[in-house]
Amino acid sequence: MENIKDTFFETKCVHAGIKDYEYGPVVPPIYQTSTFKFKSAGHGAALFAGEDKGYIYTRMGNPTIEAMEDSIAELEGGHKALGCGSGMAAVHTVFAALTQTGDHIVCSRAVYGPTTTLLNSVMKRYGVETTFVDASNLDEVINAVTPKTRLIFIETPGNPTLSISDIKAIAAIAHNAGALLVVDNTFMSPALQKPFEFGADIILHSMTKFLNGHADVVGGVVVVKNEEMYREFRRVLNQIGGVIDPFNSFLVHRGIKTLALRMQQHCQSATAIAGYLENHPAVKKVMFPGLRSHPQYSLAQKQQKGPGGLIAIELKGGFRAGQNMMNNVKIFQLAVSLGGVESLIQHPASMTHASMECETRRAAGICDGLVRLSVGIENINDLINDLERSLEKVHDKTSVAVS
Ligand SMILES: *Cc1c(COP(=O)(O)O)cnc(C)c1O
Repeated sequence: MENIKDTFFETKCVHAGIKDYEYGPVVPPIYQTSTFKFKSAGHGAALFAGEDKGYIYTRMGNPTIEAMEDSIAELEGGHKALGCGSGMAAVHTVFAALTQTGDHIVCSRAVYGPTTTLLNSVMKRYGVETTFVDASNLDEVINAVTPKTRLIFIETPGNPTLSISDIKAIAAIAHNAGALLVVDNTFMSPALQKPFEFGADIILHSMTKFLNGHADVVGGVVVVKNEEMYREFRRVLNQIGGVIDPFNSFLVHRGIKTLALRMQQHCQSATAIAGYLENHPAVKKVMFPGLRSHPQYSLAQKQQKGPGGLIAIELKGGFRAGQNMMNNVKIFQLAVSLGGVESLIQHPASMTHASMECETRRAAGICDGLVRLSVGIENINDLINDLERSLEKVHDKTSVAVS
């Protein structure tokens, strides 16, 4: 579509990134090829020199991948995007492109677990030091910045407690220090949060989650704001090789067509469920950006177009109650990951964060009774009935917990 820039978000979801292809298909064909023929030695030379537009080899670029990348760049309001083989490949590409030995990173403590691990292992081994902060507390962010700080990295809402960080304020802190702000926008998607509008410099996503939305692809993406940064990131991604393939790109691009619709339903159903859970006697606390009881409710109202589809709850019965709930849901699927059309449930203390020391886990706000829900697009009555049934069993001593 030629005038895509003048259209509304829902229209962009359907049309962005799609170009004219041979035979006039309305969706981009899957160019399932590793390499592309040159018309002549001169053509090959011109492509390598960047004098001719075209494709050389799929790790360096492919029309199906590019269509998906262009759609996400358009939805985020960025310049260009880089498709990666997973969300973690996207995270690594950002660190690899922007840091060197001696540099310092300030990272929110409420980020995806493997992001923390990557910083504490590989990046540390390469001589890049990280200070972890509660990014919902701006003083902590300011105090952590040093003259060597190259990046501030946040995820908002954060994992798994849904704490919110002020993108605009942290962008200002980063820019004052000559650093860049990277936002992991996975939990919101561009339908609900546009970090570039608040001053972020780089956005990344695990496309595995809401962007693809159907729990059948692992992928990631980095979105940048200018050509210079794009070229540098492309060069690095091309070297480290963490690219996505054409078929997965096709699936993500297809998923994006319904992103606006899906996010609307995720928000609506999660809001109903959060309200229901807040009044349930087995539930001690509900963490959901759409509830007035959320500590950063007003910031969420300013920064987000909706509360999202994730809810964290704390059960009064602790660890055992969490396991009992897991064992008694029928529609909510017991699985990690999030952002798909199917509702998922997980218990961090016995699953994703089980390997963490109890103390460290609690310091990160992950108590033993914490349960995370990713609300899908099933009928809301079925979802609430499922939670009702499983919460009735929470105090049932006869239901056997799996250890
Ligand atoms: C899942 C996730 C990642 C990692 O993505 P993968 O596709 O699993 O590699 C990064 N950030 C957030 C917020 C995530 O939820």
